[in-house]
Amino acid sequence: MQNLFGDEEYGKQESGKNFADIILPVPIPRMFTYKIPIALAPQIQIGARVIVQFGRKKVLTGIIGKVHNKPPQAYDAKPILEVLDDQPTVNPIQIRFWVWMANYYCCHIGEVMHAAIPSGLRLSSESKIQANPNFDRENSSYPMDAREDMILDALENQSELSYEDCEKILGIKTIHPILKSLVAKEAVLIFEKVQEKYSPKVETRIRIVPEIAADKKALEAVFESLAGKTKQESILLKFLRDIPIFQNLKLNEKGIAKSSLMEEGDSESSLKTLIKNGVFESFKLVVNRIEEAEPEKEPAVLSESQNQALTEIKQHFKEKQTVLLHGVTGSGKTEIYIQLIRETLESGSQVLLLLPEIALTTQIVSRLQQVFGSQMGVYHSKYSDNERVEVWNGVLSGRFSFVVGVRSSIFLPFDSLGLIIVDEEHEASFKQFDPAPRFQARDSAIMLSYFHQAKTILGSATPSFESYFNATQDKYGYVQLTHRYGDASLPEYHLANLSADRKKNLLKLDSTRLMREKIQDALDKNEQVLIFQNRRGYSPYIQCEDCGWTGQCIQCDVSLTYHQFAEELRCHYCGYKEKVPSSCPACGSTQLTTMGMGTERIEESLSLLFPEARLGRMDLDTTRNKYGYQRILDEFGAGQIDILVGTQMITKGLDFGRVTVVGIWDGDRILNFPDFRAGERAFQQITQVAGRAGRRSEKGQVIIQSRNPDNEVFEKVIKGDYYEYFRHEMMERKSFYYPPYVKLVKITTRHTDFKITEKAALALHREMAHIPVKKIVLGPEKALIGRIKNQYQFESMIKLDRSSNTQAEFKTQLNQILENLQATPEFRSVRWIIDVDPN
Ligand code: ADP
Ligand code: ZN
Ligand code: ZN
Repeated sequence: MQNLFGDEEYGKQESGKNFADIILPVPIPRMFTYKIPIALAPQIQIGARVIVQFGRKKVLTGIIGKVHNKPPQAYDAKPILEVLDDQPTVNPIQIRFWVWMANYYCCHIGEVMHAAIPSGLRLSSESKIQANPNFDRENSSYPMDAREDMILDALENQSELSYEDCEKILGIKTIHPILKSLVAKEAVLIFEKVQEKYSPKVETRIRIVPEIAADKKALEAVFESLAGKTKQESILLKFLRDIPIFQNLKLNEKGIAKSSLMEEGDSESSLKTLIKNGVFESFKLVVNRIEEAEPEKEPAVLSESQNQALTEIKQHFKEKQTVLLHGVTGSGKTEIYIQLIRETLESGSQVLLLLPEIALTTQIVSRLQQVFGSQMGVYHSKYSDNERVEVWNGVLSGRFSFVVGVRSSIFLPFDSLGLIIVDEEHEASFKQFDPAPRFQARDSAIMLSYFHQAKTILGSATPSFESYFNATQDKYGYVQLTHRYGDASLPEYHLANLSADRKKNLLKLDSTRLMREKIQDALDKNEQVLIFQNRRGYSPYIQCEDCGWTGQCIQCDVSLTYHQFAEELRCHYCGYKEKVPSSCPACGSTQLTTMGMGTERIEESLSLLFPEARLGRMDLDTTRNKYGYQRILDEFGAGQIDILVGTQMITKGLDFGRVTVVGIWDGDRILNFPDFRAGERAFQQITQVAGRAGRRSEKGQVIIQSRNPDNEVFEKVIKGDYYEYFRHEMMERKSFYYPPYVKLVKITTRHTDFKITEKAALALHREMAHIPVKKIVLGPEKALIGRIKNQYQFESMIKLDRSSNTQAEFKTQLNQILENLQATPEFRSVRWIIDVDPN
């Protein structure tokens, strides 16, 4: 597949070629050949977007992948309908990257395209209504009712309407009967219109009529004429206050947004009068959705150890592509990034900084914005389509030479990356679960970097064991920061042993006294507290005291979680919810009790224990809307919250000086992760959340509550002994064949019928046994959660030799096997999900 995209063909207009292979955003393992109509031939270039018909009805946006003279054998090629770009939207490095990703992660290039290109850059087709030019409204013999008249009136002003427009005009939702009647009366035509989804943001702006603005006398005359007309005068004054045109006439050209001029309650009619009298004029301007910001701060002066680290990084870069920066929490990795980013930008190359989703709204982004201003684009996962397209276009046009973004920002159209930084590189969220491509953004970033001949920095206080392993093998350069910046020291740990207590209510235990005391201390000193509990909701279960019944999801094999506030039981896997029953559905008993504690319940209990404290909670339930997360952080930063209870969201990147106490509510929960990475994850999670404490001068206190305080992980975390723990884990992974000693591929077989699922999984298993590479195949086994959303699932795990030949060979054959199985009638509706390097 690799050679399909000869770089030499890229960007050239292709004459004399009759066919083009188009990448389409569909999950089918190939490109599709289309005819190049003579009229379009001059516009055909690789990487440009085209419109083609796909199947009978669909119109899709595709990317030209290749041009050639070979007609397809199996079908008649349809013509390309339209070429959308003068300049290719996708560059050759991106296409190479897509091909690599599809091969490595065993998915289709169309799926990669689908993930890579913001849907705003793809076209959509929409039904539109137009007035029938042959219809004579005046002399029509059909009577029109009032609603039909409204639509016809609107069509006299506008050449076409969408269904949505009609809904607005009529103020109702069901417009279909009305449209049908209009079509039957031959008054309107309905047609499909293909259009760009992206629409630039257009603002109505106001400026002083340029002739007046340029002429002081004229302006004075205007003022005189307004004497006594206070409303109009106030608008003009406000305008001159915001735009000092006497100093710079150019400022007047772009004017002020009408909305912001009106914001302070001025009257619109006065503005209209001013426009009518020729003082102001109104015009439309295309503006950026993403705001401009000037850099306002200089980079910090690096400390001696930061400088040392910077020098070492550059030294390593002379020989190595990738450097692992292992710096304890609060060591100031950000400032080192800033230096490297600056130097890379000055050399004319682009920079990409990847952050875990949730860290993107935190302080690191505002710190970077202070230094880099508007040349930095932010690529947020909560962005709308239009905003995504704006970042995409910003990278294409050079507006953003530096992007900070979530994992999908690796797909932006960079053409000359010099540096990629992956901060918090150990974060599991860099891996995309669903849908395909199931890529690991950190690993993909290293590959992308390779295609650009760029450098990569992986930064973390608790590196993933894979990355650290690569550093010990000298594959990556390794640079360490062992101390916090400034006076801050690493926090002090306390283990609270819960095992002696048998009571259920953690708040009443003797062993939770330590936690309570430390919290009280902090509150007395007006310091802040973080309480970490990786479980949202009120309490995990509701249980019947008489028969042991617990609520189960009807679509998944999991217990439902109790959410007190909504009085609901919810499934955290599929979203199913039901009202809390008043009596046990199994035995009718009314003795239903709650078991365990989620964030919601801890918040409630702490507010009873510390009535004077102000509590906040941060979990999925409180951060659903776009600004929820930011709002809680702002409040916490402003000192309006004393105790913040939260899930893993509070472990990431927070840098608040007044946090001195961090409580880990249920340390055992962090350990009980059914996975070979359980220990590694626990080490990382505890170290990271603890790392929020005592980041300035006051020493931090961390309390870990546990029933097994002797666990190895706790011991090593407390000693801060990353290396020892790594060695311990590596020995186990080596003897039991786990990464990084082998490569894992997980295959999930899914179907609504248990028998078929099992049969299909076994069939796959038999076929895989014949693949002649060094491997161990485990399973198939019923998945840990045997059923989700009514789909049964079986899992197979394959451990492959690390050599790239083995992997390539295995994947090629696996794809073939799955294609054959899928073609068997009884397995037609089975779904197979391949996950390479699963989390
Ligand atoms: P890390 O990402 O390594 O956990 P940060 O980059 O958040 O650490 O730095 C920790 C704190 O130290 C931040 O508040 C940061 O502003 C401060 N800091 C780090 N380096 C410097 C420096 N050279 N000058 C001033 N302040 C610094
Ligand atoms: Zn019961
Ligand atoms: Zn469910």
